[in-house]
Amino acid sequence: MSAEIEVEYPFSEAAELGIPQEVAPGIFWVRMPLELTGLNHINLWLLRDGPGWTIVDTGMKSERIHDLWEGVFAKYLAGRAVTRVFCTHFHPDHMGQAGWLTQRWNCPFWATHREWLQGRVAELDQHDKTPDWFLQFFHKVGLSDDALALMADSGYSHFRDAVTPIPPQVRSVRDGEMIRIGGDDWRVIVGRGHSPEHACLFNHKTHVLIAGDQILPKITPHIGIHASEPEANPLQLYLDTLANFDHLPADTLVLPAHGLPFYNLHPRLDFLRRHHAERLAVLEEFCAEPTRVLSTLKVMFRRQLNPFEALLGMSEALSHLHCLMGQGRIIRDTNEDGVWLYQASGRRADAA
Ligand SMILES: [Zn+2]
Repeated sequence: MSAEIEVEYPFSEAAELGIPQEVAPGIFWVRMPLELTGLNHINLWLLRDGPGWTIVDTGMKSERIHDLWEGVFAKYLAGRAVTRVFCTHFHPDHMGQAGWLTQRWNCPFWATHREWLQGRVAELDQHDKTPDWFLQFFHKVGLSDDALALMADSGYSHFRDAVTPIPPQVRSVRDGEMIRIGGDDWRVIVGRGHSPEHACLFNHKTHVLIAGDQILPKITPHIGIHASEPEANPLQLYLDTLANFDHLPADTLVLPAHGLPFYNLHPRLDFLRRHHAERLAVLEEFCAEPTRVLSTLKVMFRRQLNPFEALLGMSEALSHLHCLMGQGRIIRDTNEDGVWLYQASGRRADAA
């Protein structure tokens, strides 16, 4: 959120869209366009891999990205084939072109098992009308009947529209596994909370960390509760797995999926912890009285949100409330309309 963090950027300018730029020996930065509120690009990585290339993350399904990849293949592969596609996680901006790329190159798809499965499930989970269980979740969160009626008619196939068919086969990787890319050892480091089993890759020789969305330089990754798992506590998972990065060397070069490559991983990890601790404290304080999720958006975000941002914001506010519940600092009740109300446990008259 705020930019007071002392990350250092070794590259003052972003790579041009679709033009690979070498950031470390054999590691090329490929920037692709993205059309999401607040984000206009995604960083993908092209790694020299012996006689071929490994692509890490692929971009959302779009003709423009397809064409930009073809431009990369025509000009920058030095006659070598793409021999592996690796995705950090299932979100469409990362896994969206994996189906097409693995088919085009007839190469294997690598990811953690849960990210691959999540992508496969999300792809199949589509309906012409928004399903009742989905609407019921948003009723509990406190959406008005008008907003729910709009949602009911809007259909439900956003994921499938944003991806080429998710590869039907996977070579799955596990946390801690060492994989060989281009003669270098890369360790898989799993982070949770932003997605189920997000894989980062750390190169032991060059101290390069491909961080995906897990650790970003300017924004905090979205950590939300979704209708498919209403009782989840992803923020605690995120905070717990940030520790998986603590042992990395101080000179680690972080390659994030959004923003610029940066140094100073550890101050950034400290900032992320501090940021969430502050947000949690603010929320706890705000919930002196029984409070609806929607009412917390004004203290969580302190600015007007457009409808897309408000949905993301709601899911983010919920993840903070659930983290506080997990820590015993907030208690949830349901009012007579079936809407969730949250109240700080220390403020309740019946609290011990
Ligand atoms: Zn993501």
